[in-house]
Order: sequence, then structure tokens, then C-alpha cells
Amino acid sequence: MISIYKPSDFHVHLREGEILNQALKENIAYFQKILVMPNLKKPITNSKRLISYRNQIESINKNKIKIFFTIYLNSEWSTKEIVNCYKNKLFFAAKLYPKNATTNSKTGFSDIKDLTKYFYILEKHNIPLCLHGESISYQDDPFDREKKFLEKELSWLRKHFPNLKITLEHITTKDAVDYVKENKNISASITTHHLLENTNSFLGDSLKPELFCKPIIKNRNHQISLQKIALSGHKNFFFGSDSAPHYKKLKFNNECCAGVYSTKYSISNIIEFFSLNKKTKNLNKFLSLNGNTHYGLDFLKKEISFKKIKNYKFQKLSKCGDDFLCHYNHFKDYWSKI
Ligand SMILES: [Zn+2]
Repeated sequence: MISIYKPSDFHVHLREGEILNQALKENIAYFQKILVMPNLKKPITNSKRLISYRNQIESINKNKIKIFFTIYLNSEWSTKEIVNCYKNKLFFAAKLYPKNATTNSKTGFSDIKDLTKYFYILEKHNIPLCLHGESISYQDDPFDREKKFLEKELSWLRKHFPNLKITLEHITTKDAVDYVKENKNISASITTHHLLENTNSFLGDSLKPELFCKPIIKNRNHQISLQKIALSGHKNFFFGSDSAPHYKKLKFNNECCAGVYSTKYSISNIIEFFSLNKKTKNLNKFLSLNGNTHYGLDFLKKEISFKKIKNYKFQKLSKCGDDFLCHYNHFKDYWSKI
């Protein structure tokens, strides 16, 4: 048996409609706190949309867990509106997407410098900035996008806004691990699937659409670097699942959309991974402490317990509307909540 504090997931996609219902229920079962991403079909680029999305979610949540919201940072916002919304606690962090970096990001930035006036506001009011850290140029190899972002956009941002609190989301490379270790005011989130998969499992044997995500899963050397830092409990690295549900017909299609839906089994997978590596003493750091400390938040020190079930029959699909959602799982054994 293993007991841990009920975890926090600092990177969640709940989407809308039927998917929202299901994804939120799964989050309520496993997490005490989640940070919800804003890249809806119509992204959250004004206060009206932010309030409406909050209301939809809170009407299902009914205060069962703490939900923190993000805004989609682009030039549609006025700086005044951002400050007002933040002061009224309508959102917690701003999320920045490069144009077309991932699902629903076509109104992201082309040149990060165009958003300079917003970075002043975020830095001044101590509003965290969450980054999808990939430099998007169609001349470049998709496997190099994260490294290029560190060299280009992130270095520029850190040079001009050294006091801005930054989360580099869903890191995938050794380069990102090293960058975060060497710099101040920056932490990184790590997903379950980037910890447990690599290019061999994703496309070495047969291509697995269910593992297609952005940033794309990297090779074994990068994976080892992520695994080492997560297992170490280093204070600047924490769990953010980037769990991103899509309908099956959109995952297994001519054009597979990016996103791995990991919520249902993420905690089981993380416990098993830490357990196999004899690092369960660092589970609370990765799943609760580090993220909350980075964001300056309290969390409930209420424990939940798990027991291991050998050779569990995992659910691969669950019905959602007239389609299905595909659940990600890695290990054969399951850590079940007691
Ligand atoms: Zn995401």
C-alpha cells in the first residue's frame, strides 16, 4: 500500500460539452487541484468567454476540487481587461501558444516580441506565464522545436523580463531540463507519457496515434533525463499531465490530432514508475509539493491510499456521446484507490 497527498495536476485540458463532463469527473476522482488550459475551439481571449467557461465547469464541479483557470494570451486582450480579471481572481495564469503549435492554437503568436506590452503587465502583477515551449518554423525538424524555443523565444523573454514567473510546460528534452535547472523564476511541468514513452514505443515498431502529442515524444536519452529529474524530487519540476481528450474518430483519422488522454490512469502510472525505481519518498514532491510551491499555493495534506492490483484489465476506451475516448496507460499493474 502507498499513501500520498491527493495530487495536483497543473496542466489539464477539459474541452467542452460531453468531453468536459467526463474529463472533469475523472479529475475530481484523483486530484485536489487542477489548472485548466484555455485553448478551446474559440480560445479564452476575453473576459466574457472566461466567465462563461468558468461557470460551465463550476456548475459540474460544485466546489469538489479547486480549479484554477488560464487565459489564452494573444493580442485580442486589452491589458486593462487582463489586470481586472486577475484582480477579480477569474484566472490564475496566462498561457502562451506559438501559432499552430498544437490543437486549437491558430491564433497564437508568430513573433513573441509582438506581445511585449503583455509581459510587462504579467511581470508587474506577478501573474504566472505558462509556455508551450516550441519554436514553430516549418523549415525545422519537429524534434528540434523545443531546443530552438529555449535558444530563441525563451532566452529573449528571460533577458527582458527576468522577474516574470514562468512555467515551461510539458518538457520533453534534456535541453529543457538543463535550462530550468540553470535559471531562476522558471519551473517545468512533466507529463506521464513523456516520462514513460520514447520514440521507440511511439513509432519504433508500429505508429501509435494514441501517443501522438505536441511536443512530440522524444528519444530514450531525453526520456532518461526527464525520468532522472522527476524521480529526484527536484523542486523546479512537477506533474502536469497535459491530459488532452479527443474523440476516437479524430485520433484514428487521416489526420491524427495531437493529445494524449491520460487522466484516468496517470496517478497509477506515476506511482508504479516511482515504485519500480524505489523513489516513492519523492512522490509527494512531484505530485503535490513542487507545483504548489512554484505557484505559491497551499494544498490539503489529506492522504489517499492505493493498493497494487497485478495484471489489471485496463479500460482502453470509454463511451462519450456517440463516440469514444481512448485512455492512456503504460504499465501492466494498477494502483487502485482504496
Ligand atoms: Zn496542453
